Amino acid sequence: MKIKFWGVRGSVPVPGESTKIYGGNTSCVSCETGGEFFIFDAGTGIRGCGDYLMKKGLPASAVIMISHTHWDHIQGFPFFIPSYIPGNKFKMYGPPSDVQNLSIRQVMELQTKYEYFPVHINQLGAEIEYIDCVDEHFSIGGVNISTCRLNHPVTCFAYKVSHGGKNFIYAGDHEPFRNLYRDSAEGAEMDEDFLAELDENTEEQNARIVEFCRGVDLAIWDAQYTAEEYQSKKGWGHSWYEVDLELAKKAGIKHLIMDHHDPLSADDILAEREKKYQALAAEAGFSLDFSREGLEINL
Ligand SMILES: [Zn+2]
Ligand SMILES: [Zn+2]
Repeated sequence: MKIKFWGVRGSVPVPGESTKIYGGNTSCVSCETGGEFFIFDAGTGIRGCGDYLMKKGLPASAVIMISHTHWDHIQGFPFFIPSYIPGNKFKMYGPPSDVQNLSIRQVMELQTKYEYFPVHINQLGAEIEYIDCVDEHFSIGGVNISTCRLNHPVTCFAYKVSHGGKNFIYAGDHEPFRNLYRDSAEGAEMDEDFLAELDENTEEQNARIVEFCRGVDLAIWDAQYTAEEYQSKKGWGHSWYEVDLELAKKAGIKHLIMDHHDPLSADDILAEREKKYQALAAEAGFSLDFSREGLEINL
């Protein structure tokens, strides 16, 4: 499997001098297995990935796996040029919305309503099949895929891809503690018992995530903050470095890629942190890298 990073930034694109080493585009990773071309998330990085697909030759086809539908994971899709070309074929898998009971197709349609974009997704030239991702295990072209729900303000998946005796996980956004905003927005009574129950649910989910990650060759994981930065960003749905290190240790992840970098983390900051966490990972006996645009990993 050839894995390539096209967009590694969380939240919002940050092009410019201070991000040219790690990259400023939002989430997008591809995986070529020989027979299939997978694309994980459709942040602004998918634009470059689309150009690559075009150069590989037409007609193009790919399976696009959406972790969740926050902007930074779908906003590049209207600029994915291969989707405009008749003869190309795509399948898009993603979680249906539990906010308004919408299918993945309906949620994707929202961002190309005429108020927001001139071309509706129904007017794209390529054949695109939208599939609500509701099963925990399925297979695409001989490649086995498993899903695991993460803790985030909307339904969000980690996808595990197994092929040729190797496996890797592409995780969407994950916060290892209960969601602050959704639960209070729904008017739930926030007494101590209720909060304790939410904490317990999240702990159970974290335990399921450890099992999901058990022994994987590679895991690409949300590592947006330091512990200090997280304190003023609780409830935004993201993790921090030390939590991810613990996950890797507990689950025996062989190679951890810290991804979804905060827009405020310039290249010099990321380089310093990468060195620090690489040393800690080496002590614990696993490999660690920070994702950067253009990084390729062969599994
Ligand atoms: Zn995100
Ligand atoms: Zn998100």
